[in-house]
Amino acid sequence: MNETRLIKLKGLINEINDINMAAAVLGWDQETYMPAGGINDRADQLSTLSKISHEKFTSKEIGDLIGELKTEITNINDETDDVRLIKLLDKIYSKSIKVPSSLVSEMSKAASLGQQAWAEAKKSSDFSKFKPGLKKIVELKKEYAKIFLPYDSIYDPLLDDFEPGLKTADIKAIFDELKPQQVALIRKISEKDEIDNSFLFKEYDETKQWSIGEKAITSFGYDWTRGRQDKSTHPFSTNFGIDDVRITTRVMKNYLPAALFGSMHESGHAMYEQGINRSLRRTPLARGASLAIHESQSRLWENIVGRSKAFWKYFYRELQNTFPENLSDVSLETFYKGINKVKPSLIRVEADEATYNLHVMLRLEIEIALMQGAIHAADLPEIWNSKMEDYLGIKPQKDSDGVLQDIHWSMGAIGYFPTYALGNLVSAQLWECALRDITDLELQIEKGEFSMLLNWLRKNIHSHGSKFEPQELVEKVTGSKINPSAYTGYLNKKYSEVYGL
Ligand code: MG
Repeated sequence: MNETRLIKLKGLINEINDINMAAAVLGWDQETYMPAGGINDRADQLSTLSKISHEKFTSKEIGDLIGELKTEITNINDETDDVRLIKLLDKIYSKSIKVPSSLVSEMSKAASLGQQAWAEAKKSSDFSKFKPGLKKIVELKKEYAKIFLPYDSIYDPLLDDFEPGLKTADIKAIFDELKPQQVALIRKISEKDEIDNSFLFKEYDETKQWSIGEKAITSFGYDWTRGRQDKSTHPFSTNFGIDDVRITTRVMKNYLPAALFGSMHESGHAMYEQGINRSLRRTPLARGASLAIHESQSRLWENIVGRSKAFWKYFYRELQNTFPENLSDVSLETFYKGINKVKPSLIRVEADEATYNLHVMLRLEIEIALMQGAIHAADLPEIWNSKMEDYLGIKPQKDSDGVLQDIHWSMGAIGYFPTYALGNLVSAQLWECALRDITDLELQIEKGEFSMLLNWLRKNIHSHGSKFEPQELVEKVTGSKINPSAYTGYLNKKYSEVYGL
């Protein structure tokens, strides 16, 4: 590869990365500390930065450099950082220049208006207020997808934006296998006595909730010298580089799990970004491989570790000592069952591990049908409700608990939801391998020792950044592509114990 050209390209890419990271700081500030009055100025600043970044990236100079370097890499070892960088840049570049800037700005406007309309519709639980906005977004997304013809499914190009390389047919096959197993498990659980978890809804001091969450993720290995935690309405993690990866959480006075498991979840995302190899910094390789791989990390720490018996053997005494007024009479066993209670519920983000994926599946079916034109925005409330009944046996009384609950569609994010379910599957596939490689892993967790697990994840997943596409990465580490068997095995084992199935 021509060294001068490569250095030149990297220089340009580094600058664009800096602009994007600066925008991320502004975005983080908007969600945490910015006064409400700042919103219009902030929207302008963010839009200007994203315009500059987009213009710089789609420049002819970058296109030419990628084009030239691409022809020089055919015989070089496929897995070097530089080869992977050129390949990734080539993919993002060819996608970006195909989309006319008029469509980009139309989509961005439809998303801003859509979010506003959605927020109002949700507040008054009135779908009609969101309907025109949603209709517009779906139209634009169809237009966007068609740019990438030919494809097997019109949903493919949308999915590829979040899950590079994955096809709609792949996801359908995975979900077809997964669904009956999850439904059967939930049915078996529903025949058992309901678990009492009322102790989780007592009043919990907010400052103490904050610090116990910090203790938990400190023990996991979240690096505070390269991160911090703040409050926000919706928890998230963000990064401004490998050495500044921040998280947020929300504290609910009358619901202990919100802050604690929220922190664990976001720390999983953040430790992923903190673990990326420094040689990849300031390039698009220095981020997670995909949303599903990202979610596999958050769900692994939140659920597989954070809701495990082993973890609470280590941590429950600490929690009891923090909240003796609420927990001194609650045994470890009762607590463990309480945080693993299964009950079909209306809201996805509050769903337990056994029912969660069903929430995703119904959204996927709706998204595909919308894109194919088989259903229309106007029919959504009715379709939503009947699918809820079909999948989970319950029906929302109002659309704010149904079709209006999630923000994604209003932002134009169609193709995003399946990544949540895939993340669950991947988390269990990785866990299975980690258990094989670290034979006393559960014993280590009981002792509050997480470094071997974190190092395993660092080596196998984190360090690579986005050098590998998700399927390639999962296959590399586990020997097979993304599939549901590890996850269903994990669920069945766990709930057999919790519910005595
Ligand atoms: Mg997440």
